[in-house]
Amino acid sequence: MTADQDEAAARAGLVRWGRSLFERGLTPGSSGNISVRLADGYLVTPTNSCLGFLDAGRLSRLDAGGRHVAGDAPTKELPLHFAFYEARPAARAVVHLHATHATALSCLADVDPADAIPPITPYVVMRVGRVPVVPYTRPGSADVAPLIRAKAPDHPAILLANHGPVVAGASLDAAIFAMEELEETARLVLITRGMAVRHLSPAEIADLEATFTLKG
Ligand code: ZN
Repeated sequence: MTADQDEAAARAGLVRWGRSLFERGLTPGSSGNISVRLADGYLVTPTNSCLGFLDAGRLSRLDAGGRHVAGDAPTKELPLHFAFYEARPAARAVVHLHATHATALSCLADVDPADAIPPITPYVVMRVGRVPVVPYTRPGSADVAPLIRAKAPDHPAILLANHGPVVAGASLDAAIFAMEELEETARLVLITRGMAVRHLSPAEIADLEATFTLKG
């Protein structure tokens, strides 16, 4: 695929996935932002845009150094995205949503900051891994970058305290699927909170981790 075809496919993918996420209620209003790493820069959803109504021709185009070179102004939450790309060289997409259940988990005072999602199904282990929580920072603040860089090398998915989830993937599809798995599992965790839940055993988790390697 040429660089132009690669960029055209990424633009179409951002519009298609943005609409799907919005229509399923996975990020309300103008919340949420998505980026894709290209061979020579980045495509990013514009600031104050609704993911349900993205225009492929107006997506923010950044060069390899992160400078805005075309399209509408990029999301203010860029520091999140670049911290992930710096920490995970194989990452090709970063997705940040205000998905209800994952965001609810990010607000709980008693969640384990090293491992916020209990291993209740094999899918969360296979697609998301262990999910740490990084301390609250003001949305859009560059203060989040060092917090992300510290965790992202070992974790493709992170919860921002009192804010929401961020997930990186080896492709846009992979990042979206992992985000959907994270949100669904957060929903199960909240539904079963206070119930006697059987967690996967350490041996069952080790078997999954040995069989399915997280990429991107
Ligand atoms: Zn946000």
